[in-house]
Amino acid sequence: MKVPFLSLVPGEDAVAVRAAIDRVVASGWFILGPEVEGFEYEFATACGSAQAISVANGTDALALSLRAVGIGPGDEVITSPVSAAFSALAIQMAGATPVFADVDPERFTMTPEATNAAVTSRTAAIMPVHLYGQPADMTGLMQVAARHGLAVIEDACQAHFATCESRPIGTYGIVGAFSFYPTKNLGALGDGGAIITSDPGIADKLRRLRNGGQSAKYKHAEFGVNSRLDEMQAAILRARLPFMAPWTQHRRRLAAEYRKRLTGTSVTVPREFDTGHVYHLFPVLAANRDGFQAHLAGEGVGTLVHYPISIPRQPAMARLAPANCPIADRVVEEVVSLPLHQALTEEDVRVVADAVNAWRG
Ligand SMILES: *Cc1c(COP(=O)(O)O)cnc(C)c1O
Repeated sequence: MKVPFLSLVPGEDAVAVRAAIDRVVASGWFILGPEVEGFEYEFATACGSAQAISVANGTDALALSLRAVGIGPGDEVITSPVSAAFSALAIQMAGATPVFADVDPERFTMTPEATNAAVTSRTAAIMPVHLYGQPADMTGLMQVAARHGLAVIEDACQAHFATCESRPIGTYGIVGAFSFYPTKNLGALGDGGAIITSDPGIADKLRRLRNGGQSAKYKHAEFGVNSRLDEMQAAILRARLPFMAPWTQHRRRLAAEYRKRLTGTSVTVPREFDTGHVYHLFPVLAANRDGFQAHLAGEGVGTLVHYPISIPRQPAMARLAPANCPIADRVVEEVVSLPLHQALTEEDVRVVADAVNAWRG
């Protein structure tokens, strides 16, 4: 491969990451210690939020958020059909029912119109997904939520430090949920997740829920789970936080380079809706996706599909009422991600763009 889709080996952050690991090993403190506390403070600050509560992964961040705001059995939560299926699985983990609102064909996030149309007497919340690093239309979605008195839980798992109309994503809703899965813009060397909120009651509840529902040591006041970020991952994430601003700027530069070079191609390059986009991925739409991917592989360029099946069409969702999301159905047939990560160079982008421009689909 000339340009592999991704590499997860630490690069310019390697020394800082190694020092963080050594620090934790030497400390002998591995669960709920100073690294977790330090990371939560630093992440909240970087997100423009009052508090952050770390958990074991992004799926738990979503599921526990729903529970912390009082959503459970009998409640419907409206979310996006184009996302990691974990978004909808988290709703089911909380005991609630996912309902799907169709997406914008270029923004790939659920539209305020489709969301409004999906509201029923059982709807308790909406869970927009800031997919591929692009903020959803939060102004429109917040209006729908206000009109119907719904809670907003933001799935920000792909959009660390993105902004929507200059306001940090994750701060529109009552909570914002993040994943630190290794491939994410801010990734651990393993699993991790966090929730940001400015509501102290919800923050306290989340701190209990992630730790067995304990209100004090060995006092399990409510049904909680074990979903703790460990000290090692917290220390690694702290080591990476200072790199995030330059890495995000680099992702934006690479995206701009793709846009400049991908002209006169037969694939569709979706436009940028908000300059707060953090380019977790760079998706394009190709009518003959299989052929396009094979062509790029032949040119030494790795691609991946995010995601090949719309969530309501997953067998795991078969017992739900059928969703009517024709745009999502088309997007998942055509969408394909080009390489984009912090270690990619502008020269790599030129190689990829030349290969894309040579495709006649
Ligand atoms: C990664 C991801 C999740 C799940 O996060 P995990 O840490 O893998 O549990 C949920 N939603 C979206 C949009 C994601 O990208």
